[in-house]
Amino acid sequence: MKKNHRRFPLFDVLLTTLTLLLIGSSAYLLFYLNSDTSASLKKTTKIDDVPSTIDETESNFAGIKIITEISNDTDTPFAIQYPQSNHLAFNDKVKKYIKSLKYDYLLNITENKQENKNLKNELNISFDTFKHPNGTYSFVIVHNESLKGQEDDGSIHTFHLNPETGEMPTLQDVVTDQDIDKLAEFAVEYLYETEKVIENHLLSVEEVMIHTEPLKKNYEQFALTDEMITFYFTEHQSNDYIPIVSIPYEKINDLLKKDFQITKNDGSVKENNKVEVDNTNGIDSKGKQDEKVLDKKKNPSEKRVALTFDDGPDPDVTTRILTILDKYEAKATFYMLGSRVEYYPEVAKKVHEAGHELGNHSWTHPDLTKANTEKIFSEIDRTSRIIEAVTGEKPFSFRPPYGAVNDVVKQQTDLPIALWDVDTLDWKHRSGLQLLTYVQNSVKDGSIILMHDIHPSTADGLDAVMAFLVENGYTFVTVSELTGG
Ligand code: ZN
Repeated sequence: MKKNHRRFPLFDVLLTTLTLLLIGSSAYLLFYLNSDTSASLKKTTKIDDVPSTIDETESNFAGIKIITEISNDTDTPFAIQYPQSNHLAFNDKVKKYIKSLKYDYLLNITENKQENKNLKNELNISFDTFKHPNGTYSFVIVHNESLKGQEDDGSIHTFHLNPETGEMPTLQDVVTDQDIDKLAEFAVEYLYETEKVIENHLLSVEEVMIHTEPLKKNYEQFALTDEMITFYFTEHQSNDYIPIVSIPYEKINDLLKKDFQITKNDGSVKENNKVEVDNTNGIDSKGKQDEKVLDKKKNPSEKRVALTFDDGPDPDVTTRILTILDKYEAKATFYMLGSRVEYYPEVAKKVHEAGHELGNHSWTHPDLTKANTEKIFSEIDRTSRIIEAVTGEKPFSFRPPYGAVNDVVKQQTDLPIALWDVDTLDWKHRSGLQLLTYVQNSVKDGSIILMHDIHPSTADGLDAVMAFLVENGYTFVTVSELTGG
């Protein structure tokens, strides 16, 4: 038996080999499992790597660049715009926010890939910039997306930056903590007054109370414009309606922290500067609010604005818009789709005969930055030809669908490219009242306002928008008049 206890060297070798093999294979198995996980991880992180074109341009605001990123993948279209500055902390904060929106969108698409392929996905992120008299910028980032044709609620998020110091003021830096209650009272008052939320059944009394409840979190999304503070009540959205309320600084000056208070002096100095640009007529330094209004009334033709209507013509909405424009003896610019001009030539003709300007908005509204040169050329050329055939006049300018344009697109047309600076988002909120709010918050001398003459709500809200613009000394010009083209 002893003999049996003694192993043969060969047996030892075999045993060792077997042990090594076992260790080896479990190590391999472990490695394999690991590499499998990292492979699937890679697959998810790949979500971020959708091919896209990134463009960087200077904005009208000193120290601020606009980054535009447009997807080159037709399955995952997106158009994203966000601000960047000379300050790293701000840049990172904005990028992180944008990245999370984009990631969620792409993840949703990946998860729903098996469903109906014909329904489209879309992600749009754009922003507005406002400037407080103390130099602080507010950026209002508006996000909308559709997944498989289903429009999501969208969201609004604000960022703030002092371009000199890099500071990013929050609500606590602007309004004293103990004054939130008073601020809320103003918010309710202005919400009732300017948005007419109850009259228009936008919100119930209970909903107004919930939105404006004096809690910090309800007031964290805000913008500091040159004359007022605007709050976006994004916490409790209902019916796709985001309540927005703007309160003039003069009403809440006492609630503001010193750095953000408007002194009478500041106001008049600022106003003087503004006037000097347009007009050499100096006002003495005690110029007040009344003089400012008076001054604007005296020189009503100084501020110009171009109203533009895209995606039509539409037999109902375009016709209603023509009536309103006529009431104000205003001329506007209509960026028409060739395919719709073919459908409604008599409407296009009526727009032209009323003295408005017609622009080219492509034949079928594709993202031309994703099309080949032949397609780009035919989309634009075919549309120009039908507009000329119907009205006897060539279109004055070209507005690329989605504002998506690159050098390749530009090379395919001689028409000047016309974009916009005030996006009313009328296609999104479909609210005549919000149309006014967006214009009020963003319009300035020389603005081109983007609207769409295919949504009845745009026609509903237009009269109030025009009344507001007239009251504030604007005159209406066409895009070619404004751009001198
Ligand atoms: Zn369009």
